[in-house]
Amino acid sequence: MTPLRPDLSSLPAYVAGRTVPGAVKLASNEVALPPHPHVREAVGEAVAAGNRYPDITVTALSEKLAGHLGVPRERITVGCGSVALCGQLISAVCSPGDEVVFPWRSFEAYPIVSVIGHATPVPVPNTAGHEHDLEAMLAAITDRTRIVFVCNPNNPTGTAIRRRELTDFLARVPEHVLVVLDEAYREFVADPEVPDGLTMLDAHPHVAVLRTFSKAHRLAGLRVGYAVAAPDLAAALRSVAIPFSVSSPAQAAALAALDVLDELEADARTAASEAQRMAATLREMGYEVPETQANFCWLPLGDRTQEFAEHALDHKVVVRAFHPDGVRISAGVADENDLLIEAARSFS
Ligand SMILES: *Cc1c(COP(=O)(O)O)cnc(C)c1O
Repeated sequence: MTPLRPDLSSLPAYVAGRTVPGAVKLASNEVALPPHPHVREAVGEAVAAGNRYPDITVTALSEKLAGHLGVPRERITVGCGSVALCGQLISAVCSPGDEVVFPWRSFEAYPIVSVIGHATPVPVPNTAGHEHDLEAMLAAITDRTRIVFVCNPNNPTGTAIRRRELTDFLARVPEHVLVVLDEAYREFVADPEVPDGLTMLDAHPHVAVLRTFSKAHRLAGLRVGYAVAAPDLAAALRSVAIPFSVSSPAQAAALAALDVLDELEADARTAASEAQRMAATLREMGYEVPETQANFCWLPLGDRTQEFAEHALDHKVVVRAFHPDGVRISAGVADENDLLIEAARSFS
């Protein structure tokens, strides 16, 4: 027997959205359109130079991001997707046995990266309205807590925290705790009262913001995300990274995506309004669908979760079932969403 870590058996598995040939995939919160042509061209050029190692410091992309975001470059750390940065945050901040508080349900990577990083996951159930229970999250903080994840908008429920609630929350989090605002769906947010986490960094030095190129920028398969944090934390995140983990095609793709941001953001808004349309139509049919600020919606179907997912698959639509809590449906293009709507109509 290989002498493995005994606690690996408690590691939850990351269940990715399935890809079923011949079926529409509304299961992984990707935007359904392929990468922008300008991005594809840049990736092709990077592949042609793929015999060389990538820039280990990710300098060009960090500088361009700094310009776009209006933050100093030393506050930015680029990673192999923001899920890698979640792990780097644990590595940089937590010692064995430290606690990581996060809402649940939320992004399924939080408990996984916590356990891998020898930290103790502390999930805090969402409210009956499927939102973060910020009071309960504050109450879950102990002397051992080092990180609190806040997912805004929340994956998979789509719900979002408003400025006032978030500033009140941040004011009450003790100094020894880092708050990580995971804003993977920032570009889909329609309500101006949902705050841009970057605007909170100056007033709250113990906050870090995570963003990704996987969703609105349509680069999920290329793996680029970034953190914006205090300069010392940003440097620590770089120091615990796996060297060269941001590939040169990924760096080139993200750089090129920033050239065409206006177009990408317009397409993202279309995806977000498709999510709104689906949510409204499903509500008219009698489904409970919480308010969403993202490119997906949540059906809290409880015990019928798996059954709904199988019914949708019979109608050639793959959704993401989190049995026994609910089903998350990502917005595809209009025709794809119509297929889902018809499937939902015949589910009884
Ligand atoms: C999709 C997603 C991410 C991004 O993951 P990548 O590793 O950048 O692809 C991060 N956080 C949440 C909540 C997500 O849903």
